[in-house]
Amino acid sequence: VEPAILPSPDLERRIERALADARRAVDRSHVLRAARDMLADHEVLITRCAWCRRYALGGCWLRREETPRFLPPDVARSVTHGICPDCVDDLRARGLSH
Ligand SMILES: [Zn+2]
Repeated sequence: VEPAILPSPDLERRIERALADARRAVDRSHVLRAARDMLADHEVLITRCAWCRRYALGGCWLRREETPRFLPPDVARSVTHGICPDCVDDLRARGLSH
């Protein structure tokens, strides 16, 4: 009888990590493309969370330490305010939103 090949937890972890890395890389490409479009066209708006002040670019909410250096100094003119999912969750948890 051939020994069964059992899925290794280590291999599963490596797969998860590779997928997470790939997702981050794709997200980053969306962020950079959105930044490029914004720099090329001043009509393009960037969303900023009204609560935590994080920016969203290309559909991705940036971590605070990730605020791109390439944002123009007059970025405030191109900002529209929104709320990020983390702040929505936080408000919900505190019963301030439904
Ligand atoms: Zn937020």
